[in-house]
Amino acid sequence: MAAQTPSTWLTSLVFPSLEVMKTPQPHVGPQHPPLANGLVNGALRHENQENGLPNGLLNGHDPNLQNNEVGDPARNIPFSFPPLVPAVTPATLEPTIAIRPEDSKNLENCMIKHDPTHGQDRKNALREVYSADSNRATESRRIRYLSQSEDTHEYLFGVPEPLEAMMEVREKGEDEEMELMSKKLGDLSTIISENLEIVVKAFSSSFVIPDFRGFCHHIDEIYNNCKGNTDGKIASYIPQLERMRADNWAVSVCTVDGQRYSLGDVNTPFTLQSCSKPLTYAMAVGLYGTQHVHNYMGMEPSGRYFNELCLDFNHKPHNPMINAGAIMTAALLKPELSAADRFDYVFHMYKRLAGGEYLGFNNGVFLSERECADRNFALAYFMRENKCFPPNTKLHETLDFYFQLCSLEITAEAGAVMAATLANGGINPLTGDPVLTVEAVRNTLTLMHSCGMYNYSGQFAFKVGLPSKSGVSGCVLLVVPNTMGICLWSPPLDSNGNSCRGVQFCMELVSRFTFHNFDNLRNHITTKTDPRMAKAESRAQILFDLLFSAAAGDLSALRRHSLSGTNMEAKDYDGRTALHVATSEGHIEIVEYLLKNCQVNPLPKDRWNRTPLDDARCFGYPRCGELIMDMCKKKGIEIPPPVADDPMKE
Ligand code: GLN
Repeated sequence: MAAQTPSTWLTSLVFPSLEVMKTPQPHVGPQHPPLANGLVNGALRHENQENGLPNGLLNGHDPNLQNNEVGDPARNIPFSFPPLVPAVTPATLEPTIAIRPEDSKNLENCMIKHDPTHGQDRKNALREVYSADSNRATESRRIRYLSQSEDTHEYLFGVPEPLEAMMEVREKGEDEEMELMSKKLGDLSTIISENLEIVVKAFSSSFVIPDFRGFCHHIDEIYNNCKGNTDGKIASYIPQLERMRADNWAVSVCTVDGQRYSLGDVNTPFTLQSCSKPLTYAMAVGLYGTQHVHNYMGMEPSGRYFNELCLDFNHKPHNPMINAGAIMTAALLKPELSAADRFDYVFHMYKRLAGGEYLGFNNGVFLSERECADRNFALAYFMRENKCFPPNTKLHETLDFYFQLCSLEITAEAGAVMAATLANGGINPLTGDPVLTVEAVRNTLTLMHSCGMYNYSGQFAFKVGLPSKSGVSGCVLLVVPNTMGICLWSPPLDSNGNSCRGVQFCMELVSRFTFHNFDNLRNHITTKTDPRMAKAESRAQILFDLLFSAAAGDLSALRRHSLSGTNMEAKDYDGRTALHVATSEGHIEIVEYLLKNCQVNPLPKDRWNRTPLDDARCFGYPRCGELIMDMCKKKGIEIPPPVADDPMKE
């Protein structure tokens, strides 16, 4: 048996997992929708079969490899030595990976270590990110990659090289120990297979925020800047809120890939208050559709206080983000159920939104809300007087339900997952659970954008340009669509009722990053950065543009490329360069520019061994051919004879 490096060992763990996934897997309950897993894994399998995975992660995988050759914990097949497979070639490994909550206990026993002997670029590939910093999110939910340290294997197996150790153990015939080690490797294999999407993204550096670590440094800085902000007053309309601490400050980020970063009091519970409004509204739209819900409420900013006693011109609440609208949403949601079942229903939905993270109910706040609810009662009666409610609405039960929704308790970490679910079009990024419909999320984000920040909504949309919702507990849910959800929590509020630190954070965030809705306008020159820019993607775009410009004879575009440091000899998948393309099209100026100004190799070979000179001969551009030959002579490069049987010739 050939010895294996840890990285081949890791590869072999991933590969059998893929094989396991070839058989459609049964999915258990709503946390495991067939769509998310099946699609992703299906796509991977396909690409692998086509040999098309760009980073080569799966290239070279032997498709005939049998499950039972490598063990399949799902089928109780013990782990045995995997056949030798090519090494994994990770580009950059992102710092943290959130995984399915149910895997958390296995994770304590399953951590991956990478072999540092595989080259410089991989030295940074696997690294420890979440040190035991209590400010950061739950360790147990992460696969922790450790770089250049034997610790993980030591920890897992008591030895730095588990496969070698297993071989030794097997030779010695120590069956019990062998079984234990097999089990551990099997567990790891299962975890990788069940989290394959995120593991592959990590290895191919294709997370939505490729440099997540760099991004988090900015979050650190903004967090600290806001910490010094001692403005604002804590809500005092009920004692339970008044007792909150002014120095509580939490920021939690969750990307649509499930990358997490949290700072401050991220595990201290607080009530959702008005931040429940968009979420409950989204649930109602998911259940009944936009048309039905908006028969009972508008979609216009009210321009008035959130709890003002007023309706729009159609005698409906202006929108679901203010109290009248939210009371109406409560009236619409599952009215056929008993009060207890309605509560259970939404609690379960909120739990799904939070991906199983903390969700509680603060009975003190609920009782207090109900006790001090003159305005909300007045609003409800006013709406009843105006025949706003659906027939048979029970007013007091509806109000109780509304107070209960305000009294749901989350942590900033849970709030970030909720916001990330909105950012991800309704699919929880940690569990893959399709909690909300896309239609509902689209509506919700639109209304958060125009009405989410009380009387500051217009200014917020102008300055920050992102959907958000705040609540009197000092919570702000901020959504960067298709990118991430952020939950901010700091109780002191400004005169508009928004968290002072929360608003400052949002402002600073968009002053650094191009997250504002309209930061992506054409010709918009900005000093801000876009952390979403995938390196691989931008490389491909640059290459595409370079070759396209060469084919079009666009000299100024080529000059721009050269000045901005583009590799003018870059090759596409077929090994074609700008010089090949320009010569094939007979663009003499470009050929000259590339050869003389950029000093590119005059005879690069494409995958068919064709040089630009062959292209010049074949496509009948002798002047281009002469330029190339002149340059070859100047550089002392031997001029090759024309390719025999040039397939392009006829
Ligand atoms: N419970 C509060 C109310 O209905 C919620 C208000 C808020 O967060 N703005 O008055």
